[in-house]
Amino acid sequence: MHDTKNTYKTTCSYCGVGCGIVVKKGRHDNLTLEGDKDHPVNRGMLCSKGMNLHHAMHDQRDRLLYPEMRKSRHHPMERVSWDTAMQRAAAVFSSLIKTYGPNSVGFYVSGQCLTEEYYVANKLVKGFLGTNNIDTNSRLCMSSAVAGYTNMLGEDAVPVSYADVELADCFLIAGANPAWCHPILFRRIEAHKQANPDVKLIIVDPRKTQTCANADLHLQLLPGTDIYLYNAIARVLIENGDVDYDFINQHTEGFEEYRASVFQYTVAEAARHCDVKESDIRLAASYIAASKGFLTLWAMGLNQSVIGVKKNFSLISLNLITGHIGKPGSGPFSLTGQPNAMGGREVGGLATMLAAHRTIANPQHRKEVAEFWGVDSISDKPGYTATQMIEALERGDLKAVWIICTNPLVSLPDLKRAEAALKNARFVVVQDISRLSDTVAYADLILPAAGHFEKEGTMTNSERRISHLRKIVDPPGEARPDSEILCTFAKAMGFHGFDFASPAEIFAEHARLTQGTNIDISGLSYERLQTEGTLQWPVPDETHGGTARLFTDHRFYTPSKKAKFFTLDAPQNLSDPPTATHPLILTSGRIRDQWHTMTKTGKVNRLRQHIDKPFLEIHPFDAAARNIREGDPVVIKNEHGEARVCAKITEEIKPGVVFMPMHWGKRMTNDLARANNVTSSRVDPISKEPDFKFSAVEVYAY
Ligand code: SF4
Repeated sequence: MHDTKNTYKTTCSYCGVGCGIVVKKGRHDNLTLEGDKDHPVNRGMLCSKGMNLHHAMHDQRDRLLYPEMRKSRHHPMERVSWDTAMQRAAAVFSSLIKTYGPNSVGFYVSGQCLTEEYYVANKLVKGFLGTNNIDTNSRLCMSSAVAGYTNMLGEDAVPVSYADVELADCFLIAGANPAWCHPILFRRIEAHKQANPDVKLIIVDPRKTQTCANADLHLQLLPGTDIYLYNAIARVLIENGDVDYDFINQHTEGFEEYRASVFQYTVAEAARHCDVKESDIRLAASYIAASKGFLTLWAMGLNQSVIGVKKNFSLISLNLITGHIGKPGSGPFSLTGQPNAMGGREVGGLATMLAAHRTIANPQHRKEVAEFWGVDSISDKPGYTATQMIEALERGDLKAVWIICTNPLVSLPDLKRAEAALKNARFVVVQDISRLSDTVAYADLILPAAGHFEKEGTMTNSERRISHLRKIVDPPGEARPDSEILCTFAKAMGFHGFDFASPAEIFAEHARLTQGTNIDISGLSYERLQTEGTLQWPVPDETHGGTARLFTDHRFYTPSKKAKFFTLDAPQNLSDPPTATHPLILTSGRIRDQWHTMTKTGKVNRLRQHIDKPFLEIHPFDAAARNIREGDPVVIKNEHGEARVCAKITEEIKPGVVFMPMHWGKRMTNDLARANNVTSSRVDPISKEPDFKFSAVEVYAY
């Protein structure tokens, strides 16, 4: 992990795989990079996005360089000094809090924030502003998995490691396209299967994606029917006696109720609901039954659903009934789309959480954190989640919002509503690196932030692996690291406890606050990360080498120490159903060479060459019924709005289902290219994660 002169070991800033990279700094700060051959995650490999990361950071034409401010909505934006910007922000926030109370302000942050930035933002908002109104864009991608883990295993804790890939002999990959979205992890799965042809790969997806290329079985289900499918697989396993009763009896609770719920309908009925063959459900069960190591992997196809938490319950139950958890090559494994979605959760980045996975609902947790921060108390009122902030802005209850490192006017659902809500805000702060963020146009105050390679901090990848990121170059103009900006604001507000001399001090404070919890990293320091390399939490003391696999003793983090099953009655989808006027189901996702809202990858020529414009995948049957030909411009429409892109006719999508990539926004093309023009504001009732993957639409040629 040692750096040498002008050569720095760091981590890719895109997906949650967390690949190690080696950056070389040349003359005039020119950067080149390659995969880190010594890194345990990628062993030198990088995907197209990671390989071109330095090009995205080199091109600084879009960078925000100076604080900018407008005196009122009728005035133009003007360059101002940092002092003026911070004084204005403090004056507006103080005045709103004094007049309307602390819940009139909120922060919306990002899974791309470094852990130290996340920590300072949470300390500032929950400890000192007196509100829990801070949520993260991880709400849009991981909150259903968080609820799944927390309810079933007692903690938001991914139990496995990437090392389990090479120890598994059966993979069930659901609602994910890792071949494009988590490429280096999927290369490891592919290589493992190539070396061991008996390894089984089951893919569950309404689209036949690139991940299906080497699959043994593709269950091309109808969107929204996942629970029927996993329950039916469970029923077959139970009927055939292919479950681990020793594990169930000793280490779980609620099995009988769960069993009764999955026996409520037959495998044939489930097959009809899902529109898959009954024989394929039985085949999937037989692969799982024969396996010694069984990994379930999933991403947004499960999480981004109005029944996302129950989908998680039903999938994780397959690991529990077979006893495939806490042992080599086995366990549930959610895939994060952002580089530090997990780090953010560790510091309590969600509106209902506190540091180290403590909860706002727990009075003891609030007391512990308040005492640690030296404040009287922490509010017991849960903060607004991402979509609740939009509703609160609409109502006028939320008056000021501070948006950091995320582009909600492309990524939130029901975008016309989100735009109107943001216009209704009295004061919007946008803290970002790029003018390409659509949200910049709505800002009253713009704060230029330092980007990747330009600041120091840590991130945690999908397997609980914490890595340290060195500052390699200076940020351009007057851009500053996010944690420094937040600490300056806190001091302008008159708060104590923000005099950190370095990110290392912030990390040390965060690590101390984890002591004695299930995510204890009190044995970790910048010094250790720099000398020993990346480590997986928990790391409870200075001699501890990190934890590759959780629950090896089969003692879970629930009060009873047992994993918990949930009944999965009546698993009908609660999404807006297709109708005669909106008969097609729109689902959305990523393409190989773009990431999020393209403010970085969209600048790189090589990455644009793969797919350079948004499109709508539609099955030939559905296209013919609407006189749509390949490449025709089409309108995708429903009561929320419309999008206009060109048709891509393919048999790889299920009839009745259409697909749009989620990347394009107003700044990259036009506002009609946005998939989220037609997604609804419905959310899962537990996780509050939006229902991105199921929108009833009609499609017309125009
Ligand atoms: Fe970066 Fe993810 Fe690609 Fe690895 S797989 S290089 S972390 S984008």
